[in-house]
Amino acid sequence: AGLYTNPNGRGGNLKMLELKNITKNYGSKQALDHVSLTLENGIYGLLGPNGAGKSTLMNIITGNLKPSSGTVLWNEENVHDMGAVYRSLLGYAPQQQGLYDTFTGIRFLSYMATLKGIPKKKHRDEIQRVLNYVNLTAKAYRPIGTYSGGMKQRILIAQAILGDPHLIVLDEPTAGLDPKERVRIRENILNISGGKIILVSTHVVSDIESIAKEIILLREGKIVGCDTVSSLCKKHGDVKNLEQVYLQVFEEEENNGNSHTI
Ligand code: ADP
Ligand code: MG
Repeated sequence: AGLYTNPNGRGGNLKMLELKNITKNYGSKQALDHVSLTLENGIYGLLGPNGAGKSTLMNIITGNLKPSSGTVLWNEENVHDMGAVYRSLLGYAPQQQGLYDTFTGIRFLSYMATLKGIPKKKHRDEIQRVLNYVNLTAKAYRPIGTYSGGMKQRILIAQAILGDPHLIVLDEPTAGLDPKERVRIRENILNISGGKIILVSTHVVSDIESIAKEIILLREGKIVGCDTVSSLCKKHGDVKNLEQVYLQVFEEEENNGNSHTI
């Protein structure tokens, strides 16, 4: 950490997450193969078909899973050594949902706020803030089990932004949603993104094409591209959109029976 502190009190200097040579094996299955990556402020789209290793990578970034080898650094410090400090600057919406169907929205968020160590006296304001962000204030006292798929994803995003973390990891936040709900999630992500590092995984190109600063292409555990949409299009023979890039990069998987559609 530097000496400079910027006026909003969040600490100045560039914030940076670095992955260095991350490999992950599940038994004999290699899910990640020497993944190296540097993320700075902005939205990054992690794009790849099912089984590419997106969730594994996100679980390693969030500290829920240990890599077989390699390190994750936050501003050049190993996150493994940062413990609670790292967790307090991290928000995570996991891929699976439905764990808290009996909780009301508000109870779920206060539970998560407690887990995150947000002081009790700040809970009320903070929960109001995040509910408002994802347009769920009106549904706060309903059980999550009664929510639509889109509302469930939005309450997951809401808990991820509790405490205003600098690094936000969203694992397939649009999975199973209809086009209208997808647009809402996209707008929510764009709304929370100012001055933050956001990593969003998906296998649906349109979810991230218009909002991501850079797209990370993950194929069979390897990063095969990390660039702006326009640069990726150029590199892949001047194709006109990310869909075309996707088809080129993941063609083999397509033929092997995996699909990038839902
Ligand atoms: P994605 O999120 O891109 O669909 P995952 O990270 O979930 O990919 O999975 C990557 C690969 O690792 C897949 O082949 C998957 O079957 C395998 N895998 C994931 N989790 C486990 C696990 N706990 N044990 C064994 N293999 C796993
Ligand atoms: Mg996944």
